[in-house]
Amino acid sequence: MTAHRPDPSGPARIGPNSIIRMAEALREQQGEARTAELFAAAGLAAYLTNPPETMVLEEEVIRLHHAVRAGIGLDAASRAGWDAGRRTGEYLLARRIPKPAQAVLKLLPPGPAARILLKAIGQHAWTFAGSGRFSYQLGHPLRITIENCPTARDAQADQPLCAFYTGTFQRIFTELVSRKTEVREIACAATGAPACVFELRWKE
Ligand SMILES: [Zn+2]
Repeated sequence: MTAHRPDPSGPARIGPNSIIRMAEALREQQGEARTAELFAAAGLAAYLTNPPETMVLEEEVIRLHHAVRAGIGLDAASRAGWDAGRRTGEYLLARRIPKPAQAVLKLLPPGPAARILLKAIGQHAWTFAGSGRFSYQLGHPLRITIENCPTARDAQADQPLCAFYTGTFQRIFTELVSRKTEVREIACAATGAPACVFELRWKE
């Protein structure tokens, strides 16, 4: 499946993993019935029986995260989001990031591997960040910034809300950059920060 960059004048869209992996994570954490309630609350019940196969509306992803947080609370929602992100990373490793490229990245030291990986991720940022803006700052710790991050959109909280992205970066960087990678969201727009910032460390 090839995702084509959508018409920039149309509504923002995000890859279907943002829905499919969240459904998987919620089923495991909350069970089938509760997952169905949460998807229904988001107005997305149809996606449980017919998982999306193409890009979905960003607005649907935002709605799902709102419904999940309202339904099961911030901590459980954060765990589900992180697990959905981890599963998304797993999918990208299995299906999207070419195996020869993965082999090269694994041979490189973490710094150069991170530089190449982030350049590639940046070229596909529109598939996971929607109308958010992805940027990064190389070095250690490495910082990834998502401005206008979909999972923090129209939300206010006293803790970071974007565990979906933390989980995705954690899975991919652990596999391709360093086994020791630890990812934390150190600033979140939902808490009043100008953007969501993810810090990645792999050294002591
Ligand atoms: Zn955030």
